[in-house]
Amino acid sequence: NLADRLQETFKKLRGHGKLTADDVNATMREIRIALLEADVNFKVVKDFIKKIKERAVGQEVLESLTPAQAVIKIVNEELTALMGQTQSHINISPKAPTIIMMVGLQGAGKTTSAGKLGLMFKKQGKHPLMVAADIYRPAAIKQLQVLGNQIDIPVFAKEDCKDAVRIANEAIDYAKSHANDIVIIDTAGRLHIDENLMQELKSIKEDVKPHEILLVVDAMTGQDAVNVAESFNNDLGLDGVILTKMDGDARGGAALSVKAVTGCPIKFVGAGEKLEALEPFYPDRMASRILGMGDVLTLIEKAQTAFDAEEAKKMEKAFRKNEFTLDDFLSQLNQVRKLGSFENILGMIPGMGGLKKKLGDVDIDMNGKEIKHIEAIIRAMTPEEKRNTKIINGSRRKRIAMGSGTKVQEVNKLLKQFDEMKKMMKKMSNMKQLNKKGKKGK
Ligand code: GDP
Ligand code: MG
Repeated sequence: NLADRLQETFKKLRGHGKLTADDVNATMREIRIALLEADVNFKVVKDFIKKIKERAVGQEVLESLTPAQAVIKIVNEELTALMGQTQSHINISPKAPTIIMMVGLQGAGKTTSAGKLGLMFKKQGKHPLMVAADIYRPAAIKQLQVLGNQIDIPVFAKEDCKDAVRIANEAIDYAKSHANDIVIIDTAGRLHIDENLMQELKSIKEDVKPHEILLVVDAMTGQDAVNVAESFNNDLGLDGVILTKMDGDARGGAALSVKAVTGCPIKFVGAGEKLEALEPFYPDRMASRILGMGDVLTLIEKAQTAFDAEEAKKMEKAFRKNEFTLDDFLSQLNQVRKLGSFENILGMIPGMGGLKKKLGDVDIDMNGKEIKHIEAIIRAMTPEEKRNTKIINGSRRKRIAMGSGTKVQEVNKLLKQFDEMKKMMKKMSNMKQLNKKGKKGK
């Protein structure tokens, strides 16, 4: 991943006072590749690189950061800025009903997202009405009705009517007389941008004057998303974008491109087929996802305040060490205390995000009472017990619990956690070695 590659690039450059043009150029090549791999539009990449270059050259490298980290930090900040702020709100009309129009290509997720928005509004205590204005596929009406049933939201449909504008208009009258304060119009899509479709959408827009036109874009379509967003924005004028299917392995480049090209904010992210799977859009998270580096930035920032770079490195090494005793365990627990929970830390190390999930209930809250008990338990052990936990049998456990003022269950739990962590560290160091071998082989 990018963070690793950059570390490679900068291995020799540690301790420079300022970022030189050479430092920056070397990094830019890697970043360019990473962005293109993340499906960011090439024009967007070009502008972006130019901007980063201007900003990065001559920057002071903080004592605690390596040049690679310094550049990553700048890149991340610029990526985040480029995607704008979190703007997951819908223009609500002072006079009900607020009219929302969903537009986008076929299969992008308009109908699903209409249901998701409806559910969101319903949870806020509003009374949404969904409108089936996709008149081309009979199944489309049915689909919206099924969704409406699931979440108990009324659906306005006219099965025999072939006039989407009329349906939309009648739906609004219906909403007014039924106290529906939100009207969500689900429109038809095509596989490609199409003049007739655009004309129909324009007519709906002119007639019902929606307060919010939302473009629904499939994140998996990558660079194509840009052209789609551009033409919808030119023809209709968009208020926001919903980026769907981010639960898949889409890398998020579409988010960056769409925002950069149209200037429209990404308001929500669809993260699953379920109707609950609608999330606000967080530019900083997306930036990390695009760079494929977990929350390495957060780690850098936290490490900046809690550690210097040297210490952080030592810590990482210790994490990956196979052989390690309960004494090491304790001193590390204390060291990483400031960084939050163990789970947090794993999540922040590039490539370790997956392990985080497996950690489950062996995680330790570094700030709670638990760590004090752990400390007491370990202090109550003999040096031999600390080196070799296998010898700690039932009667020793009882003695340790008594000596530390804790319960036998807590001693058991700690020993189990310690075992799990050892296993995990072994896995991590194996992964590391595999990676190294892989790289040499190339
Ligand atoms: P429309 O043609 O634009 O109305 O698209 P639909 O709403 O019918 O969605 C097309 C397909 O994408 C359906 O199978 C949806 O379940 C699926 N879908 C929509 N949004 C998401 C999402 O955020 N994640 C995933 N995994 N699937 C989605
Ligand atoms: Mg649909």
